[in-house]
Amino acid sequence: MIVHDRLRLIATEEAFTTPEQVDAMRALARSTWHDADLRLWREASRGDDAASTRTRIVSAIYDRMADIESGRLADMDANDVDMHLLLLTAPGVQLFDPDTATAIAASSNDRLAQAIRLHPDRFAGLATVAPQDPKRAAVEVERAVRKLGLNGIVINSHTDGEYLDDQKFWPIFEAAVACDAAVYIHPRNLPEPAGRYYVGAMDLNGAIFGFQAEAGLHAMRLITCGVFDRFPTLKIVLGHLGEALPFWLYRLDYMYRKYPARPGFTKTQLLPSEYFKRNFLITTSGVSYHPTLRYCHEVLSADNIMFAIDYPYQESPEAVAFMRSAPLPRADLEKIAHGNAERIFHIAPTPVKVG
Ligand code: MN
Repeated sequence: MIVHDRLRLIATEEAFTTPEQVDAMRALARSTWHDADLRLWREASRGDDAASTRTRIVSAIYDRMADIESGRLADMDANDVDMHLLLLTAPGVQLFDPDTATAIAASSNDRLAQAIRLHPDRFAGLATVAPQDPKRAAVEVERAVRKLGLNGIVINSHTDGEYLDDQKFWPIFEAAVACDAAVYIHPRNLPEPAGRYYVGAMDLNGAIFGFQAEAGLHAMRLITCGVFDRFPTLKIVLGHLGEALPFWLYRLDYMYRKYPARPGFTKTQLLPSEYFKRNFLITTSGVSYHPTLRYCHEVLSADNIMFAIDYPYQESPEAVAFMRSAPLPRADLEKIAHGNAERIFHIAPTPVKVG
């Protein structure tokens, strides 16, 4: 096994939080509202002496997310991770009313830009926008990318059960394309009532399985709705090695040819796999597994895959060891470890050191 040291690593799905997001999420967590995305926040909020081991573990994750400059940089240094591409942790601002969501998105983007200004060689970041108000979200895309210099945008899948294939959201895509900003579709729990069917012997509506089902569904709704015919250069990023879609490409194409479009829709110009290869990039977040990586490398090419850790939900040492020992040609590994992230998120390549 070859282990590649001196490999520049840009991790592209790294979570942070802000005091504004924490306060607003904790306020919701104290309410009686049922939303599966409140579960972890509720567990983290039970900060009494009788707190369970589980509560302490979850609380520690939120502490690590809130800590951008000390613990995070120490973790990056200890694991030779060059950069984190930061995103406001799921579900971002998508549980809030439109005004609160828009305000917290803006404050998060301001804080993110400040952290990047302080450490431009260590951090890049994706802007949070509030799909609850698509027109103001489009304005925030422009502000965050053109004025704050952020590197793309993140949306945490559905918003109150609505998906971005609905044309009312397309001002966001229009702004993203105009700014050459990739859109990272990060998972969250499935909405009700779908979510309840993911609860069996375990609650599967979460990172164990439901996240992948939800984000994969979101991607398929986009692929089949015609958004990539309207915006051929739109770039979508999926975590978790493509939320299982790469595994299904043959079947998706086969069945797509057989299925009629629903009334009011026309079939897209290309097949699902053709959009997936042209408009999507995937990251390795949470999947430190060489067989899946090799498969995606063969089916999608090295140009469509980017390294990610999913810090602090997943641990850096395992993800870094996975990347450095990946059984791929060195040139392809360079693309996956950092080159594609530099290209897609407009991150400056390493300055060449003279002497
Ligand atoms: Mn994540």
